[in-house]
Amino acid sequence: MFFYVGANVGYREFVPVVSAPADADIPALRAKAIEQMKAHTRQYVLRQFSWINHKLIPLCNQTKTPIYILDTTDPSKWSDRVLSPALCVARNFLLGETMPAPIDIFDRAGELLHPIRSTSKPDIWKHWVCEICADKESGEPYVVVGGEQEWNQHLVSRRHKAREKGRRKRMKFEEWKARQALKEEERTKGEYGKISGIA
Ligand SMILES: [Zn+2]
Repeated sequence: MFFYVGANVGYREFVPVVSAPADADIPALRAKAIEQMKAHTRQYVLRQFSWINHKLIPLCNQTKTPIYILDTTDPSKWSDRVLSPALCVARNFLLGETMPAPIDIFDRAGELLHPIRSTSKPDIWKHWVCEICADKESGEPYVVVGGEQEWNQHLVSRRHKAREKGRRKRMKFEEWKARQALKEEERTKGEYGKISGIA
């Protein structure tokens, strides 16, 4: 597996620092990198929130997959509010026991897990499944839940197009293989015919 460090928040901002010439103002570059890292982290958090609210939560609601929210706002209550409930959920899951309701784990779970239901258009609850773009390892299909526009965007995306091309190639190869097998079969039949003709 390849890992490109430069693409990750917290690394890429420091590339100018470590690659700076010896006579550069390193402390200034460093200070700038730290500021950028903070800004990028905040932007990333917003993107994650948006993804959780608009994609993950609707999808989980639709498939009746529970989501658990843990209250991490007070570090002094970490054990009570985060560690114990998390262990409880993990334990029940692993032992196949009845799962607690999200609201029993965190009393604000209800309002946080259904934030867009009242305002969302029905379209947002529809979803599209792309079999071509299924996860290569788990085989799970690629699901788009953000509405028709997003689905259309997926259809013209680089990922989807590449997969589609790959599939066409594979199908051509399978066809070619089938044709070869047929030819081979005909050839053997012909020879067999000759042999039986002699006999
Ligand atoms: Zn696709």
